[in-house]
Amino acid sequence: MVAGDDRWHEVFERDQGRCRYCGFDLLETFEHYYVAEVDHLLPRDVPDRDELQYLVLACRACNGRLSRAHGLKLTTFEQRREYLRHPDLSRPTRDKYEHYLRRRSDGWAREPEGLGERTSTTPAVTRASWKTLPRPSITASLDLDVEFSPADAACLIRGHVPTEMEDRWFSYFEDGWLNFHRSWTGAHIFGLRLEESAGRVKVVESWVSRDKSQYTNDDLEVDREMVRSVLEYALECSKEHP
Ligand SMILES: [Zn+2]
Repeated sequence: MVAGDDRWHEVFERDQGRCRYCGFDLLETFEHYYVAEVDHLLPRDVPDRDELQYLVLACRACNGRLSRAHGLKLTTFEQRREYLRHPDLSRPTRDKYEHYLRRRSDGWAREPEGLGERTSTTPAVTRASWKTLPRPSITASLDLDVEFSPADAACLIRGHVPTEMEDRWFSYFEDGWLNFHRSWTGAHIFGLRLEESAGRVKVVESWVSRDKSQYTNDDLEVDREMVRSVLEYALECSKEHP
């Protein structure tokens, strides 16, 4: 299924622009967005295969590597994700993936480009720094087990105001809570309560929105992956302010 299809947009929105198999942010560049694909969990001869619950947003690499999955009768998201992690893939694919990992870890270090200036020099970001919707009435506990160094926590507490369209999160700290809102809609998606103990700053309470009108994902694993990547992005400012 290719870009332009209504279903493609529905799946893209529901999965918030991430490949659900590898977690890649398909909004990272226009090229990734443009080739984002929809994986069908069910084979061609099943009548309901175009129903939303049987569709998964996938990057081109993951979807391509799933080409044999129907033949192996892998018809759930979990089975297919497991298959991608399992080395039961062709030798060239595996070699290529290993080369990719090697290059990422020790080859050709690149400065990230196109992310724009981060406005981390802004002294105090508050709720009023951006349009925000109130905390949703329905939330789910994230049970996030994460801790930060004091320097990283200071960076997070400084907050972040989006500076351009592709900057998708607004964050600020208030009454012990680190809050993440979608920059486009102002929807409040994540709340993390931070507490300091023994020289570390820990997330001691965390929730994710379950308001279907603002946030449609309901898979806690996906939520946790997302909040981790949002935190990673937010922590880039600590490298600029060592
Ligand atoms: Zn992927």
